[in-house]
Amino acid sequence: MGVLDSVKQRAYEKRCYTMHLTIQLSIRLPMKYKLSSLSPAQITGIIFLSVAAIMFVYHSILAAAIAFLYIIICVVASFFPRSNFYLPVISRGKTGRSLVALTFDDGPALPTTTQIMDLLDKYSVKATFFVSGVNALSYPEIIREIIARGHTIGNHSFHHDPFVMLKSYHYLYQEIAGAQEVLRKMGIQTLAFRPPVGIINPKLSPILNKLEMFCVTFSCRAFDAGNRRVKNIGSKILKKVKGDDIILLHDVLPHSGEDSVILLSEIESILQGLMIKGLKIVPLSDLIGRELMKVE
Ligand SMILES: [Zn+2]
Repeated sequence: MGVLDSVKQRAYEKRCYTMHLTIQLSIRLPMKYKLSSLSPAQITGIIFLSVAAIMFVYHSILAAAIAFLYIIICVVASFFPRSNFYLPVISRGKTGRSLVALTFDDGPALPTTTQIMDLLDKYSVKATFFVSGVNALSYPEIIREIIARGHTIGNHSFHHDPFVMLKSYHYLYQEIAGAQEVLRKMGIQTLAFRPPVGIINPKLSPILNKLEMFCVTFSCRAFDAGNRRVKNIGSKILKKVKGDDIILLHDVLPHSGEDSVILLSEIESILQGLMIKGLKIVPLSDLIGRELMKVE
């Protein structure tokens, strides 16, 4: 066999191997798992990696660039709390009506959560509180009060670690299951999980499936940095809010007493402003048409 034949033979073998990989990725995987059960992230991955495998025969650098582009898409998608790239995410209602839901994250905290509930009572409004396991352990009496006043509770992880989504499957599982366990001991089974700082990653889907939970994010927020920037959150929300929005606010203690006064005044301005705009505040479960928790 001449040198030319040997080169041709190696090129042929490389093509055969690449075709084998392509078949594995693009045909066998969907048949095994059913295309409809795959997430957009998995489908995109199959397409990108299949193209990269084919391109590898002709241009290995271009193939690497295509694979790298897929990694970039995955990373960027993590930072969009309304993205369904990795799993079905509920970020707004589908009623088509002038209805919105209020949600408060990161608590419970004293006295903010109680003060906010007093305000909600004044306007006969029910909200959802996405609590952390640590804070629920610190203030079990507020958790009971949230339920007694007719509001609902969601799971916002145990420690509210902002980097939880960058860590292992086991760590993320412990964070969600740990908060579930704290609430379960108080007779509450939450069904909705909201990821800390709105970052979503591929590990979340199997964990929520295992715990029989679903992911709820939001569609309207004031970027208050967890009540570190409370000034004008009312006008920021009212400027952009529309029907079916899930509004994100926080009930953690602001940095100063003055900020606490501002926070309550801003929340009251939101309650009044929504009424003026003709937007009715309904419980989150009504807006999304799904039960959020079970209470024993
Ligand atoms: Zn949070």
